[in-house]
Amino acid sequence: MQQIDSILIKEKAKELGFLLTGISKAKKLEDQARKLEQWLNKGFQAEMTYLEKYFDQRIDPEIMMPGTKSIITLSHNYFQEKDCTSDVNIARYAYGKDYHEVLKNKAAQLIAFISEKYGNIQAKAFVDSAPVMEREWAQNSGIAWLGKNTLAIHPKEGSYFFLVCIFIDLEIQVDDPISNFCGTCRKCIDACPTAAIHREGYLLDASKCISYLTIELKNEIPSEFTNQMKDWIFGCDICQEVCPWNRFAKRTEEAEFMQNEDILKLNKSDWLALTEESFKTLTKNSPIKRPKWKGLIRNVKFNLQ
Ligand code: SF4
Ligand code: SF4
Repeated sequence: MQQIDSILIKEKAKELGFLLTGISKAKKLEDQARKLEQWLNKGFQAEMTYLEKYFDQRIDPEIMMPGTKSIITLSHNYFQEKDCTSDVNIARYAYGKDYHEVLKNKAAQLIAFISEKYGNIQAKAFVDSAPVMEREWAQNSGIAWLGKNTLAIHPKEGSYFFLVCIFIDLEIQVDDPISNFCGTCRKCIDACPTAAIHREGYLLDASKCISYLTIELKNEIPSEFTNQMKDWIFGCDICQEVCPWNRFAKRTEEAEFMQNEDILKLNKSDWLALTEESFKTLTKNSPIKRPKWKGLIRNVKFNLQ
């Protein structure tokens, strides 16, 4: 089968608001599989046992979607600073509407465009909800390197972006991976308040990460983290805030990601006064609903200790 030039796909992706598009050949992620296995064996996934499931699908596109020839990886900027003040911190990716639907919709438009251009194709988009290693595909597709903070980083665009992968049965011209520019920097390692990043970087103990503790953890936050949460009540951006590659981060232009001031203006006392019903209404379209009212209130209370 003839290889397709990626230029039209990249142009369309840009038109849809994606920041970067990279193409990688679909192949088994052998090296990454070993790393994932070591990480799981260390128990760094903590209560996120869903990461232990579907291992074979996760590392092999042929198992995830038989016939896959290429992976299109797309990034979408979500960066913005808070326009209002409050005494709590919320991860920037959660300032606006839930990204899953917004990005799935854009990916569907891109797939429709490709189908129109190249005929009957099989393609599936994944937005952080299936066993797909988005960061590793971003690395293979040349739109990021994986930094010492384990996040995908691009030299011009930083790391405040979502990732989307499209598995497709077309052979598309691939992109070369980019270099790792972390160098001797260790700002993220030194700034992490809970020492969740390994001292040499590139390895995260999720059980110590504030993102995990405030979003994924179902039980009480262990007392060893008292006074370390730095007023984060949903996620944490510290290892991105200190990263020099985010110095020139530009505000997202996506209307759906515009910040919800009704949520962002709330202080600790306002959160504690919210009933479960009002929490549900307030966070209906927001990623903040994930830990539920109980989890969010737990996070606020823990920050008051
Ligand atoms: S998100 Fe926060 S707690 Fe997690 S590794 Fe980064 S700085 Fe550390
Ligand atoms: S802060 Fe420094 S070491 Fe950490 S990810 Fe950014 S460039 Fe790499």
